[in-house]
Amino acid sequence: MVNLRELIKDKKRIVVKIGSSSLQHKETGDMDYIRLEKLVRELSDIRNQGKDVILVTSGAIAAGKKAVGITEIKSESNSHAMAVKQACSAIGQARLMMTYNKLFSEYNQVSAQILMTKNTIVDNLNRYNAHNTFTELLAMGVIPVVNENDTVATYEIEIGDNDTLSAIVAALVDADLLILLSDIDGLYTDDPRKNKDAKFIDLVEEITPELMEMGKASTGSGVGTGGMSTKLIAAKIATASGADMVIANSEDIGVLHRIMNGKNIGTLFASNKDDNFDLVGFVENLHK
Ligand code: GLU
Repeated sequence: MVNLRELIKDKKRIVVKIGSSSLQHKETGDMDYIRLEKLVRELSDIRNQGKDVILVTSGAIAAGKKAVGITEIKSESNSHAMAVKQACSAIGQARLMMTYNKLFSEYNQVSAQILMTKNTIVDNLNRYNAHNTFTELLAMGVIPVVNENDTVATYEIEIGDNDTLSAIVAALVDADLLILLSDIDGLYTDDPRKNKDAKFIDLVEEITPELMEMGKASTGSGVGTGGMSTKLIAAKIATASGADMVIANSEDIGVLHRIMNGKNIGTLFASNKDDNFDLVGFVENLHK
């Protein structure tokens, strides 16, 4: 039998997603620079091996809130609260990018910012343009840093969470590996924080309806928008478009090079390319 973990060593185009809860200190909500720096060093090293690297990062809203001293944004259904969230994102995205640019340049890498919404995929011209931009950046050896364009994305046009966004990016650029760095080790049969008998699953070869059911339990972190169910949606998109996906714990960012070295870390969802998979239709129907 082929060792799927060994095959990861040969992956060429890698998308890495990191969530807000992994980028900030729990106690204060301020940025965790040590972790950010380690992330940038790991990604730069993967790039130095001649692989294409894309980072999907959250943390814009969290950084913006912190900058202007907002601790809580009440219900987003209220239009003022939505505007506050969008303003925080505008502030925070610039800060986040400034930090990434600074760190990437210390490791001699060029990074670029790409902000997307649902329309980037659903609209043919937008999708074509986004695809060309990614392709060109990767050909230049640049590391694209992607987030949702929260400043313009309201409910109708938002993807809504960066797990799904990262899988959409992986599909758009024909990546062969997506790594989701999260605050959980991977997929369990139940929420391990609530059920001590929950078993860890290290390999998923097929995403069944029962599995989707298992993911309903959320990670329960107070920041970011992803729980296990968004990770399973991401796994569906990524594997159907021909990429493997790994969920791993961001507690130690060093898992990145160990995963790339074929170590059995986190949960691996094996790619299962489906030529009938309709990315545009899937994205169009998100939240419907
Ligand atoms: N786009 C949001 C931000 O950067 C986060 C979305 C998510 O965490 O999934 O703050």
